[in-house]
Amino acid sequence: MLAQGILGHADTQQRFSDLYRQKKLPHAWMIYGMQGMGKAMLAHTMAQIYVCESLRPDGQACGQCHACEMVLGGSHPDLAQVGLDWDEKKKRFRRDIRVEQIRHALDFLTLTGMRSERRVMIIDDANRMNLAAANALLKGLEEPAEGALLLMVCHDLSALPETIRSRCMLEHCSPLALHDVRTVLKKMALPQTSLLLAENLAKGCPGRVQALNDETIASACLQWQTLTQSIQYADLGEIEAWLQKYVQKVPNELIVSILVEPLQHTIQEWMGDYELSEKIYIAVQGVLTWEHDVRAHALRPVPSLLARILQVRKVWKQAA
Ligand SMILES: [Zn+2]
Repeated sequence: MLAQGILGHADTQQRFSDLYRQKKLPHAWMIYGMQGMGKAMLAHTMAQIYVCESLRPDGQACGQCHACEMVLGGSHPDLAQVGLDWDEKKKRFRRDIRVEQIRHALDFLTLTGMRSERRVMIIDDANRMNLAAANALLKGLEEPAEGALLLMVCHDLSALPETIRSRCMLEHCSPLALHDVRTVLKKMALPQTSLLLAENLAKGCPGRVQALNDETIASACLQWQTLTQSIQYADLGEIEAWLQKYVQKVPNELIVSILVEPLQHTIQEWMGDYELSEKIYIAVQGVLTWEHDVRAHALRPVPSLLARILQVRKVWKQAA
């Protein structure tokens, strides 16, 4: 059952449910925080509470009524979702949420509910709305329709205009505790060999390491970890060969996390030396912004990452 299956965000669920039952529910919620800790699942759980026809005494969705069944089956007529669309031509997700999608979402919310007076729209990746989309949404936020509930999921609050933020109930989500991360990873049934790696990389956000479910990716990541764990001794030829083979297959976020993970441990030891700290900061920042720079400036991924690794390696050699 979804309502009971979600971990780590019980406070938010409770707050939502309490406000709903007190008939004080704000019509727009912005659920924000780091990627991969179940914010979209939380939004669905809230939507389920909103449309459930027989709430439990504790205010959670019953999980058994027809409305709950339809939410869980993805077929509730009064619940809809928009997010980043799949671009069939380019074989990847689009980079932003467009104005047509937001207009569609707002139109949906103005209709009368089919099963009740209530309608819910979830906007996933709300931080990826382009300017026109955000402007269209703003109008909808100013004139909410009766019974309409808008739940937005956002990984980067600063990417949204203040005018939107100020019209929403802002709900911050924190990363999951380690025992919850372990429970989620257990359910994901990761290959045993990559479990420890997944736990270290998740940092409270198990959704980030979902790709490790795939054994090819898991074993490539372990190999990458071995290659890069002592960066000052790393064999650049092997690193380049690995990147050529896997840069398109392994999520780039994982490539960066694995690379940066051991660096973080050494950084702390060198923090006393100001000049060195600054060099370290710049070098590591280069790695951290690589993925973004590749997208934003159409860089060639392998040479641009190699150059940044080289920079880190140079600083680490100096520091050692
Ligand atoms: Zn129900």
